[in-house]
Amino acid sequence: MDVDTIIVGAGIAGIAAGAQLLRAGMDDVVILERAHDVGGTWRDNVYPGVACDIPSHLYAFSFRPNPSWTQRYSTGSEIQDYLRGVARDEGLLPRIRFGTDVTDMAWNDDDQRWKVHTSTGDYSCRTLILAAGRLSEPKSPELPNGESFTGTVMHSSRWDPSIDLTGKRVAVIGTGASAVQLVPHVAATAASTVLFQRSAPFVVPRGDAPISPESQAAFAADATTLTRHRDTLFTEAEAGHAARVEDGADRAALRATALDHLATQVPDPDLRAQLTPDYEIGCKRVLLSDDYYPAIASGAVQLESSALVGVDGNEVIAASGNRFEIDVLVLATGFTTTRPPYAKNVRGRDGRVLADHWAEGMTAYATMLVAGFPNLMVLDGPNAALGHNSAFVMLEAQAELAAALIARMGIESVDVIEASEAAEREWTARVDAASTGTVWLSGCRSWYVDERSGRLTLLWPGTGTEFREALRAVAEQPLPVASQHIPA
Ligand code: NAP
Repeated sequence: MDVDTIIVGAGIAGIAAGAQLLRAGMDDVVILERAHDVGGTWRDNVYPGVACDIPSHLYAFSFRPNPSWTQRYSTGSEIQDYLRGVARDEGLLPRIRFGTDVTDMAWNDDDQRWKVHTSTGDYSCRTLILAAGRLSEPKSPELPNGESFTGTVMHSSRWDPSIDLTGKRVAVIGTGASAVQLVPHVAATAASTVLFQRSAPFVVPRGDAPISPESQAAFAADATTLTRHRDTLFTEAEAGHAARVEDGADRAALRATALDHLATQVPDPDLRAQLTPDYEIGCKRVLLSDDYYPAIASGAVQLESSALVGVDGNEVIAASGNRFEIDVLVLATGFTTTRPPYAKNVRGRDGRVLADHWAEGMTAYATMLVAGFPNLMVLDGPNAALGHNSAFVMLEAQAELAAALIARMGIESVDVIEASEAAEREWTARVDAASTGTVWLSGCRSWYVDERSGRLTLLWPGTGTEFREALRAVAEQPLPVASQHIPA
């Protein structure tokens, strides 16, 4: 089957791209999705307590505001329902091929089309939009003797609700955003819970609250109020950027908020010392929780302040040498972010493999166009995430640029666009310069930074506003045709 545009993935990015294309009248689009539902992250993550720590009205598309959010911070299932609704209302569902695993994507110079092989058949297209996600491939620690473990193993993003933790001895590994949400729920159910903390997170108060039916009705009655509210939330979130780039008053205030929260919720000085981070606040994601510290302080969770290094029969082994007999091992150990698995299946000009192009870390011009990979647009790839603001803002900006470029290709009768090596290098240098001196490169271990190059390859170092403006500027420039140098 030949179509103009194929989008790989029906998560937030794929839905954003599909919606923008259809809204611009470009409906020769197919979306390939390996699962049987839309939603990506929010379809996959069903661990107890899964929710978002970005305010609900901001964690939504600007073009599909939702007046009916019921909580200040939405649950995972409410977000998943929202995404299903957007996919339906934007007319995407008939264009999605569910249960279709993309196995190979190769550019063919002869007919200037991408050949896309999938588990359910072959496709070709002029433009290929990769929207396969950055938090989609679970990462598990490599454990010597791993196969000897006799208990049940679950990654946080592959939670099996049929496994009842009642009466079970559980170990949770990791202290990131996922762990902080699930630990209080696991502790409330399991017979015992031990938490392996390799590094302590910074946690600030969450302050969740229901949104009253009256507020929902007011938002439904007046779209302007809803848009204004979203804009206010966006501006408030943007203010969080200063603490990440300057070691000044904002960072000191954020650190004080987190340490006060810890002091208030954990009275025991020894435990508090173990829960005090040893790196700069903001280097990793700052977490929001009101029930994480109390679960630990109450004694319901035993804190093991070291890494999981091995298993042996029904025991898990900590770097400290401590061993714990358990029934269920919960790996809240994050995702493969710096080396997206799809990259090894993408072959550009002259058979160049995207994973090889990204051997030192992900790079792209305008965060989306990769030299040597004509008519390829990567969403949610290099430098397209934010720690302090909503992913929807970023993905919407990328989807807008994708739609703008594709529309202009039609209007200007351009068959092939491609970033030049120089344009990609210049953009990367610009990102590197903006990353220098930021808290993200201050020395902690995080999924934002490529372990091979030490570069900030996942996070955009600027504000969401700057991202939007930078991509809009690209949309205004002459189309990047292959032979042409593109000004960065
Ligand atoms: P993560 O932030 O990458 O955290 C993984 C955790 O596993 C880290 O604490 C890491 O320790 C730990 N770890 C890895 N191997 C270990 C080992 N052998 N022993 C002990 N600990 C080990 O993953 P995540 O919590 O799934 O979150 C990923 C991202 O998903 C977040 O940053 C966020 O962007 C997103 N998320 C968002 C929300 C939300 O509310 N918006 C909720 C959940 C997730 P170190 O810290 O020492 O590396």
